[in-house]
Amino acid sequence: MALLKVTDLNVYYGNIHAIKDVSFEVEEGEIVTLIGANGAGKTTTLNTVAGLLTPRSGTVEFKGEELSRVPAHHTVGRGMALCPEGRRVFLNMSVRENLEMGAFTRSDSEARETISTVFDRFPRLKEREGQSAGTLSGGEQQMLAMGRAMMSRPSLLMLDEPSMGLAPILVDEIFDIVKELHEAGTTVLLVEQNAAKALSIADRAYVLETGRVSMAGDAADLAHDDRVRKAYLGG
Ligand code: ATP
Repeated sequence: MALLKVTDLNVYYGNIHAIKDVSFEVEEGEIVTLIGANGAGKTTTLNTVAGLLTPRSGTVEFKGEELSRVPAHHTVGRGMALCPEGRRVFLNMSVRENLEMGAFTRSDSEARETISTVFDRFPRLKEREGQSAGTLSGGEQQMLAMGRAMMSRPSLLMLDEPSMGLAPILVDEIFDIVKELHEAGTTVLLVEQNAAKALSIADRAYVLETGRVSMAGDAADLAHDDRVRKAYLGG
């Protein structure tokens, strides 16, 4: 059984049909990426899986349970965590407080234990634990958003454009962290406009085009596909 199985999802914003019959799966232990141009529907798909949006039709099965009408604050307790587009860290709160917010489904002792794991993974956050998040650089804010998502100890970590707005060296660092989290046992669903990077770390990929899945397959195969190369890899 797939960890996440999305079937025939249709999502609307008013009359705009943003997601059209989208189906995909994530198996436990995989990194799966959704790639596509601006406005293709990647964020809408992720937000629907997380329970921030309700689909007009279709199902989101997670660990065998139908969650498409379960709101986001309950999907976290089921083992999903979303690291949203634009990071959305609480700028006026400290680094530590931001991390604690990610543990709202867990006991204080569990949160304390996980915070030290997160600090081991992100030593730069440890150094800045008392500093307000608004004073962090873009890359550090991205690490904080990922650390906050890890605080619920998710079985599925969903990352929306983690590389957005970061200098190339930081993009590499963020992708290395995603690989490390994956090697430590986290299943990852990654949304990216940086298709080259995303395909280089993913097991499988789905290409979204104007709200539909246009291609799917092994990430390595798609990285060599002529259509993918022309449309998303700059040649
Ligand atoms: P990006 O990388 O730019 O975020 P995306 O692939 O994540 O692109 P979405 O943000 O999911 O795409 O947008 C899918 C479609 O839905 C687009 O046509 C977009 O204009 C539309 N859309 C997104 N959010 C809203 C909204 N709140 N209200 C109306 N339309 C929206």
